[in-house]
Amino acid sequence: MRIRNLFDEREVVYSFEIFPPKPDFPIDTIYSTIEELSGLKADYISVTYGAGGSTTSNRTAEIASIIKNNYGIEALAHLTCVGSNEEKIDSILNDLRCKNIDNILALRGDILGDVGSLGIFKNSQDIISYSKKNGNFGIAAACYPEGHIESKDKSKDIDVLKLKEECGADYFVTQLFFDNNLFYDFLNKVEQKGIKSPIQAGIMPVINKKQIERITSLCGAQLPHKFIKIINKYEHDKDALRDAGIAYALDQIVDLISSGVRGIHLYTMNNPYIAKTITDGIDSILNSINRKKVV
Ligand code: FAD
Repeated sequence: MRIRNLFDEREVVYSFEIFPPKPDFPIDTIYSTIEELSGLKADYISVTYGAGGSTTSNRTAEIASIIKNNYGIEALAHLTCVGSNEEKIDSILNDLRCKNIDNILALRGDILGDVGSLGIFKNSQDIISYSKKNGNFGIAAACYPEGHIESKDKSKDIDVLKLKEECGADYFVTQLFFDNNLFYDFLNKVEQKGIKSPIQAGIMPVINKKQIERITSLCGAQLPHKFIKIINKYEHDKDALRDAGIAYALDQIVDLISSGVRGIHLYTMNNPYIAKTITDGIDSILNSINRKKVV
């Protein structure tokens, strides 16, 4: 099933992201996480793809297959293209097809080496177009409410988003953000550009200080004053910071849903406790709005 169709059936599509275990851990260390997440009734679960085609990347299809074929939950397999070639991409797409996976998140990926080593896939549009031509997949793509970290002119990112849609991306998932107002500004620009595909808001509950430092250096997300206050207050109390981080994410999600967002994509960090606490906190809200849409 194409995930895009879910946006027609539901007022809000709700999903989780997980990542494959690192190479020095056996793949089955993820199984209990999937088992626990499977009870939370997400509309789909996405599985990340190792940066630069790292050694964990072949685990993406295997984990997506377990989600889809063992649990009957729609799976979204992330796929990065930079530094890759047609042969490798063909082999991954074939494998995904054989495993009954219908949806991919088509990404350029981070440029790790020098730009000369990019290969034939130089940006996300290349992999979106290629997958559309060479496989029968629903295609999601990434978007960046605060601009991509490489981007010098944020309006160019909106032009690129339009190109991604024209190449065949049928919905978008955002980079994580902590300030909903920046996301609403972004949605206005997207609408002005005539982009019609649904956009799912990516939310990451922050549960420790190290995680925040890593995230902000990787993606440059701005931290609102309210958020910084929470971190400063509870940084030395693990449980309190975890609960405050979850409460902050819940507050963000309730505001987003009340403002008409088309979907919530929860970066679970492979932590079923976080996913369950957040899901329990919005369960009645999701039931209420999605029931209304069916009626
Ligand atoms: P692109 O859309 O190609 O954009 C990259 C930059 O190039 C942007 O600044 C854009 O404006 C610019 N650009 C693109 N096309 C053009 C053009 N035609 N003309 C001018 N400028 C252009 N990484 C992983 O390694 N594995 C994952 O599983 C993974 N999952 C992710 C999931 C989500 C939801 C998000 C938001 C990101 C994810 N990433 C993942 C990170 C992603 O790979 C990086 O952010 C990467 O640097 C950009 O990928 P992209 O597909 O957005 O690139």
